[in-house]
Amino acid sequence: MACNICVTCGTQYADAEHPPGHCEICEEERQFVGLDGQKWTTLDELRLTHRNRAEELEPGLTEFETEPRFGIGQRAYLLETPRGNVLWDCLALQDDTTTAYIRERRGLTAIAISHPHYYTTMVEWGEAFDVPIWLHEDDQQWVMRPDDRISFWSGEAQSLPGGLTLIRCGGHFEGGTVLHWPGGAGGRGALLTGDVIQVTPDRRSVSFMYSYPNYIPLNAAAVRRVVAAVEPFPFDRIYGAFRHMTILQGGMATVHRSAARYLRAISD
Ligand SMILES: [Zn+2]
Ligand SMILES: [Zn+2]
Repeated sequence: MACNICVTCGTQYADAEHPPGHCEICEEERQFVGLDGQKWTTLDELRLTHRNRAEELEPGLTEFETEPRFGIGQRAYLLETPRGNVLWDCLALQDDTTTAYIRERRGLTAIAISHPHYYTTMVEWGEAFDVPIWLHEDDQQWVMRPDDRISFWSGEAQSLPGGLTLIRCGGHFEGGTVLHWPGGAGGRGALLTGDVIQVTPDRRSVSFMYSYPNYIPLNAAAVRRVVAAVEPFPFDRIYGAFRHMTILQGGMATVHRSAARYLRAISD
């Protein structure tokens, strides 16, 4: 028996004698099956071939990234607050080195994840630290390994310890969530956005897509809803899903400018 992990997206499935016939996350129109067809691995195999790089980006914020790249290749973050720490987003590789790094910094009080593409091995991380995993209930159908530690929240916002807020933006996924950290960027505030508000390679703008790999845009109403969701929360910095994809300052203005450009591009 093993919990199989999809090589293309990093999603871990529930314990089973045989790997699932297909990956529901990859076969859905927002993702894709790899060129070589559906491939599976396990956490034990992954631990032999990969490691997680850890780098402190500013006081209280460490990024983790798996090397060599695995799955979608996103970053996960350890966010430290005086009232407890949160793991934001998740990596498939849950290993002793990363666990020890987090324990040295007083462990975790919670895990929160932006959307199903980064659920990965969330249950392994939840077990390692014995903490709840906060997911928006509107994405419940995409949980491939159910667990008692998963706590589905509903509505538009959810407070976490340390003044953190989960904000439901929708868009990329119906329950698509970003995390507001008021202490980030030297107290000017930061948003951690996963793919829900995607920092683009010029690091001067963001985008909002239904599917990034398959280039499916959102409609105007969905883009306006994302902007309206984050507007009440002051932030200057935006940490996106991928390495170096960070808007260091002017985050709110960047969201407004990028949304206006997007709406022009998709209008008649
Ligand atoms: Zn997959
Ligand atoms: Zn995604």
